[in-house]
Amino acid sequence: MRTWRWSLPIKVIIGENALKEVPSVLALLGAKNILVVTDEIVFEIVGKHLIEDLTRQRIKSHTVFVRNSSVQEYERIAAKALDLNVEATIGLGGGRSIDAAKYASYKTGKKFVSIPTSISHDGVASPTVSLKKPDKYPLSIMAKAPDAVIVDLNVVIKAPKRLLASGFADILGKIISTKDAMLAYNLGEEVSLTAIKLAETAANLLVEHVSEISGFGKKGVEILAEAAIMCGMATSINGNTQPVSGSEHLFSHALDIVSVGKKSLHGEQVGIGTILMAPLHRVSWRMIRRLLKKVNAPVTAEDIGATEEEVIKALTLAHKIRKRITILGSTGLTREAAERLAMLTKVIKPSK
Ligand SMILES: [Zn+2]
Repeated sequence: MRTWRWSLPIKVIIGENALKEVPSVLALLGAKNILVVTDEIVFEIVGKHLIEDLTRQRIKSHTVFVRNSSVQEYERIAAKALDLNVEATIGLGGGRSIDAAKYASYKTGKKFVSIPTSISHDGVASPTVSLKKPDKYPLSIMAKAPDAVIVDLNVVIKAPKRLLASGFADILGKIISTKDAMLAYNLGEEVSLTAIKLAETAANLLVEHVSEISGFGKKGVEILAEAAIMCGMATSINGNTQPVSGSEHLFSHALDIVSVGKKSLHGEQVGIGTILMAPLHRVSWRMIRRLLKKVNAPVTAEDIGATEEEVIKALTLAHKIRKRITILGSTGLTREAAERLAMLTKVIKPSK
């Protein structure tokens, strides 16, 4: 039997003006000297005010800008956290700033506070870090769950709608990943049923409240943030990403390898992966497509600037990406099956 170890945030704050509560959260964590990991743009818009606020509350803060998502860059930031002897790192911004701060706190054993300024994927509260190895190959590592998550709705509501739609698509993908995880469970793998249910609930929230979410107003962003945080917790509870990353993610990772011209975001690719995998799990691909269209997320190869050939290739390659039980099995899809699936779900155009 496996021993389960849940590491969850001790504080999650979602609300208008939630940034005002950063000093009290840092006090709760016993942090008086901190490192804010962010980028120049976010610093100008939110970071400056946050630091003024912290200074007023006698919290000493340092700022570092993340330049890229390479291992070396994340190591540089971890070294800085160590040098400055901070008690906590704050990830303020998009995925890269949050990941860099998470990595630094994991490497140095400091507290970590996640303050996303957008919800473009499910990683705002997850313990995983995505980074690029020197050979540019993407790598995902289990680091640590945030000690606190603070989502200021007044800030996130201003994020580009495209990013929020991408976050929606990434979370909607849990419809498939939880089915893949259940398949693994039924085949005897130790997957947390609680984690699966949590991820399923996150996806269901989006399905049931798509009309409130679609305009990405305050209520919509609030629901999206809650769903993203639930996904992060599901990963923490399970100790790996299995409940939140199944065949729909394998497709997205495979597309990253085969497609050179695409200009899509991670969540957008996962959304298309979700449409593609739906028929295999007897889920209505039309429903997934409709939900994605409702938030203006892409639904075809053309929408994301990938060629039809690349989509087919990614489908035949997906099962090889990582050793994980999914509906694709260990042999994956034949080229013919991949082509049929992509045409059936209208991801590529039917042949004349
Ligand atoms: Zn994802």
